Amino acid sequence: MSAAGGAGVRLVLLGAPGAGKGTQADEIARRSGLPHISTGELLRTAIRDGSPLGRRVAGIVERGELVPDALIGEVMEERLSRKDAERGSVLDGFPRTVAQADLLDRILARRGQTLDRVILIEVPEPVIIERIAGRRSCGRCGAVYHVRHNPPKVEGICDRCGSELRQRPDDAEAVIAERLRAYRELTAPLVERYRRAGLLLPVDGRGRPEEVFSRIAAGVPGLRA
Ligand SMILES: [Zn+2]
Repeated sequence: MSAAGGAGVRLVLLGAPGAGKGTQADEIARRSGLPHISTGELLRTAIRDGSPLGRRVAGIVERGELVPDALIGEVMEERLSRKDAERGSVLDGFPRTVAQADLLDRILARRGQTLDRVILIEVPEPVIIERIAGRRSCGRCGAVYHVRHNPPKVEGICDRCGSELRQRPDDAEAVIAERLRAYRELTAPLVERYRRAGLLLPVDGRGRPEEVFSRIAAGVPGLRA
């Protein structure tokens, strides 16, 4: 990355479920050496580690409750204070709301840091629905297929282990529509906030992952395609 003098490069990735956020975050991390920090993974790791913070998270998750922003903020602050995040980070799944964005600003301010770019991966909803609703996975070995883009040799049967493929309940079309609606409602004000702050980088999320990455790299100083 080009940012010198320890300034670092701090990125946030926004995008609807199925927009390819995780894939791009991984790719940016791989090319830049910055850590990819995903909220889901962070919380799972905290629970596994059994740290005092992790035990609090585990209690909440076990009761089936939503992890409150303040606690996510604590886990995030702890993660961002580690050595590998000194030069920057790629955040995926946080912030998700305006309240979380305020929290992130405060965490960064305490560390004398600011955000550099908020990358918004845009994919039209019909494309997202087609991507997700066509997914089929193997309950036995975890292989993932797509009925059109990556079909198994025999319809409904896993190439690798011969088990029956199924659709995750979350991937049913009606459920996706609801997840997209919830995403729009929560994220629209967040997008507007970052647009006004001049941080937003909207990127066309259609096409192959390499094509999407090139578009991101063109808008993030120091990231080479
Ligand atoms: Zn299988």
